[in-house]
Amino acid sequence: MKIPAQLLEDLRRVPGFNEDEFTEAHSTAADTSVRLHPGRVGGGLTLAAPVPWCGNGYYLGERPVFTLDPAYHGGAYYVQEASSMFLEHIWKNAVTDNGALRVLDLCAAPGGKSTHLASLLQGDSLLISNEVIRNRATILEENMVRWGYTNNWVTCNDPRDFSKLTGYFDVIVIDAPCSGSGLFRKDTHALDTWSEENVTLCALRQKRIIDDIWPALKQDGILIYATCSFSTQEDEGLLDWLAATYEVESLAPQVPAEWGITPIYSPEKNMGGYRFFPGKARGEGFFIAAVQKKAEADELKPIKFKPAISKIKDLVLPLLTNSRAFQFIASAADAYNAIAPAHEGDYLLLQKILYFRKAGLPLGAPAHKDWLPAHALALSLDAAADIPAIELNKEQALRFLKREDINIEEMAKGWRVIKFNNLGLGWVKCLGNRTNNYLPKHWRIRMELPDNDAG
Ligand code: SAM
Repeated sequence: MKIPAQLLEDLRRVPGFNEDEFTEAHSTAADTSVRLHPGRVGGGLTLAAPVPWCGNGYYLGERPVFTLDPAYHGGAYYVQEASSMFLEHIWKNAVTDNGALRVLDLCAAPGGKSTHLASLLQGDSLLISNEVIRNRATILEENMVRWGYTNNWVTCNDPRDFSKLTGYFDVIVIDAPCSGSGLFRKDTHALDTWSEENVTLCALRQKRIIDDIWPALKQDGILIYATCSFSTQEDEGLLDWLAATYEVESLAPQVPAEWGITPIYSPEKNMGGYRFFPGKARGEGFFIAAVQKKAEADELKPIKFKPAISKIKDLVLPLLTNSRAFQFIASAADAYNAIAPAHEGDYLLLQKILYFRKAGLPLGAPAHKDWLPAHALALSLDAAADIPAIELNKEQALRFLKREDINIEEMAKGWRVIKFNNLGLGWVKCLGNRTNNYLPKHWRIRMELPDNDAG
C-alpha cells in the first residue's frame, strides 16, 4: 500500500511515530473485533483475545459472515474496530460523575460509539444519538433498536440545531467526519481519495461542528473528540485551536505502555490526546482526546411534564418489565413510546428542537381490541420476560430474518416474539393455521442463504 508522501511528512513531526513500523503494518490485514452486549448472552462467537482497553471487546481469529448470524441481528454483539473501543478508558477516567447524565453523541451513525455509550451509562442517564445524514440516521436507528436501551433516543439534526440547548449536556462526543486515513487498511476508497485539500476542508468542518454545539455543553461538561484521521490538522491542530478559542482544560488519563497507544501533547497548547498507530497498538488509526469546559454557561432546564397518557397503560404494561417504571408518550398518530419517568421533561423540551427517529422505546399502536407491537419491543432490554415467544433454530431464524414464512408447530393464536438463543429478533402473529411475519421490510436480510443454512 502506498501511503501518501504528504501524510508521511506530516506524521514525521509527531513524537512516537515510527515510519518503518507504520508502513510495514499497512502491508498486513486489519483485525476483526467485536464488543459483546453486557446485558445479553447467546453470541456464540469464537473469541480469540480480549481488547485490553475495553471490558467487553474481543478480537476474532477470523471474520465470519455476520449477516448470516442471527445472534448479530439479536444484538448479542456489535462489530467494531478495536481502537474505537478506547472510548471506554477515556469515559471511565474523564466522566467521574456517573449519576443522571445527559449525553450527546453528535455524529453517531452507524452506532459504534453510541452502542458503547449506552452500555456505559448508568442510572437515569439519557443518551441522544444524532446523525445529520438521513439515510445514515436510519442505519443508526436500526443499530440502536437492536442494542435495546430505552434511555437512548435517536435524532436526525444538523449540529447547529443543538446550539439552542444552552448548557444542557454533561458530555458531548464528537466522532468527527474526517479525511479517513486511519482506515486505509480497511477502506481503499479512503486511500484513493485522500488529499491535503480534503484534510484542510475536514479540519474547517470539524471546527464549525464544535462551534455549533459548544453552547450546548454545560460548565464543567466534557467534550470527547475523536477522528479516524492521522493528519495533525484534524488532531493536535484541532486541540490547539480548541484551547485557543474556548476556555478548556485537558483531561488525559494514564495508559499502560503495553497497550501500544501513543499519548500526544498538542504543540502550542499542550493539550493531551491519544493516537493509535497500526503496528504499535492492535487496531486501526484513531485519535481521541477529552477536554473539560471551564467557561460559565447558562443551563436550560427540562420543561415540567404535563398529564400522562393513561388510556393505553393496561394494554402495554404487561409487555414491559415490572422492575422499572415507565411514562408513556404519543410518538405519532396513535403510536406510543415508553420513556423513563426521569426523562419526561427532557422529552417536552427536546421535541421542540430535535427531529426524533426514536424517543425511548417504541411500543406500537392500539388496533381494535388488540395491540400492534412495535418491532423495537421485541429487541428491548425492557420487554417483559414472559411475553409469549418461539425459540427458533439457526436455519429457521435466518428464514424469519429473510422475512419468509416459517413453519412452526405452535399455532395458538396471538403475538409471539421470535427468539434465537433467547435473543429477540422480531414478531410473528399466529393465526391458527399460519403465521404472519412482522419483521420490518427494510430489516430483512437480502443475502442468499447458503445451502446448509437454507436447509
Ligand atoms: N460515531 C460513529 C460510530 O462510532 O459508529 C462514526 C461516525 S463517522 C466517523 C462521522 C459521522 O459524521 C458520519 O456518520 C457522517 O455522516 C457524519 N457527518 C458528516 N457530515 C457532518 C456534519 N457536517 N455534521 C455532523 N456530522 C456529520
